[in-house]
Amino acid sequence: MGEFPRGLSAFSLEGKKALVTGGNRGLGYAFTRALADCGATVAFVGRGGAANEAATGRLAGDGIDAYGISADLTVDDDVDRAVDAAVEALGGLDIVVNNAGICFHNPAWDATDDQWRQVFDLNVRAVWKVSLATGRHLRAAGGGAIVNIGSISGLIVNRPQAQAPYNASKAAVHQLTKSLAAEWAPHHIRVNAVAPGYVKTEMAPVDRPELRRMWIEDAPQQRYAMPEEIAPTVVYLCSPAAAFVTGAVLVIDGGYTVY
Ligand code: NDP
Repeated sequence: MGEFPRGLSAFSLEGKKALVTGGNRGLGYAFTRALADCGATVAFVGRGGAANEAATGRLAGDGIDAYGISADLTVDDDVDRAVDAAVEALGGLDIVVNNAGICFHNPAWDATDDQWRQVFDLNVRAVWKVSLATGRHLRAAGGGAIVNIGSISGLIVNRPQAQAPYNASKAAVHQLTKSLAAEWAPHHIRVNAVAPGYVKTEMAPVDRPELRRMWIEDAPQQRYAMPEEIAPTVVYLCSPAAAFVTGAVLVIDGGYTVY
């Protein structure tokens, strides 16, 4: 091992090649932009061609040349095609952020088989399939970093809304993170997760008055986060600064889970 980088250079992603799933909006968009801001070349995946184009346009406005890939990660062929496209566009791969996810709010009695399938196909199975497909490239390249987006929902049960399949899926993401971290450490692949609290995106209606008491006022900081506040932690986990960090689930929730 050479000399450990000093100061801010420990957080630099200069020369790294990164793939973010679900990068056309919300948290994934913030992750894509932050990774690029810190030196990485970036590709992202989303199903919507128009949404992907809009995102590449917004990123171009910030001077970021991102490569958008249209793919549905619940379809195995799409996973392989998306990963191949990213590797070809970027000329390799060092960083993978498994961010794409979906959630339904309804009591367990009313949750349909199809909702369960959609949640587990994307939140868990796609993380597994993308990790395997990209992990082979990282292993061949001598190592890399994977960050999975878990949730406080993998640690606590959210209130007042019921979302049992989602909560179970995020607990699975946390344990899959630890399992792959253990298996892939000999290949110099670090696998970590972040577990955000409430963040303002299309998925989380943080401004709804009926949710305010339990989503906002119950948290020590008494607020939700913006996606940009979660992104630096993802950058950190991908960077040399986190060289000794693997199998971690880093909670970023304004203190929500302390109670
Ligand atoms: P959004 O709904 O805003 O974004 C979801 C992203 O995933 C979009 O880019 C969407 O693009 C993409 N996506 C959805 N389905 C698929 C699919 N089948 N294949 C490929 N891409 C897909 O969600 P958030 O930004 O809020 O959430 C991002 C992650 O963060 C999720 O894993 C979520 O569980 C997690 N999280 C969110 C929290 C929050 O409060 N917002 C809190 C804790 C965790 P498209 O529709 O074009 O495919």
